Amino acid sequence: MRYVRFTRGGKVGYGALSGKTVRLLDRSFLQNARLTGEKVRLSEVRLLAPVVPRTVMAIGLNYADHAKESNMPIPEEPFLFLKTPGCIIGPGDPIRLVVPEHRNDYEAELVVVIRKRAHAVPAEKAHEFILGYTCGNDVSDRDYQKSDSQWTRSKGCDTYGPIGPVVTDEIDPHNVRIQTRLNGVVKQDSHTSQMIFPVQRLIEHVTRYVTLVPGDVVFTGTPPGIGPMKAGDTVEVEIEGIGVLKNPVANA
Ligand code: MG
Repeated sequence: MRYVRFTRGGKVGYGALSGKTVRLLDRSFLQNARLTGEKVRLSEVRLLAPVVPRTVMAIGLNYADHAKESNMPIPEEPFLFLKTPGCIIGPGDPIRLVVPEHRNDYEAELVVVIRKRAHAVPAEKAHEFILGYTCGNDVSDRDYQKSDSQWTRSKGCDTYGPIGPVVTDEIDPHNVRIQTRLNGVVKQDSHTSQMIFPVQRLIEHVTRYVTLVPGDVVFTGTPPGIGPMKAGDTVEVEIEGIGVLKNPVANA
């Protein structure tokens, strides 16, 4: 299924996307939803971030080709950090740069969406806890990332976590192309087979320390080609089999 959350006529709704048709669900896809039988065209709705997470976990340095680009050693275990729930925005929502004179980068990432409460989950059972995957952009203020001893101002500002457009369970998370385009120009172009720690190992590691609940997300790290954005730009993250997450960039 390709799940979407949207607004239509001022109300939030949920659906399953088939081509350009949204088949409506009777409630959130996180709550044993059923199809109502009603359909609307995708053009009739405005897509929202597909989930409203309580915890936005993220992994640093999880692509071998990015580690090489950054001259960083391959980590021995996944490196965890948190983004804020308030940084989450949806497709089309503007990324609002708080300090425009800083270097503010895009980071295309595969994002895992959790379907049920997950605590101390062994890697071999991780698939039972995953609803699916969406695209994410781990927007990062590099100046604050260097100057501060932790990354709250670098990666947790309002709007610094676009996700969407759909959550799908129809991909192999370790066998899809991942790209960023800035104003239509390809900037990141890699493959999730380059991940150092696979998704099931990340879920095992994260849930050892932090319980995840339905709708929580895990950003799984970015491939090479990171670079800056400025107001007026348009940034697109595309992951094969998921779709395109497109956001304009503005100043706060
Ligand atoms: Mg990142």
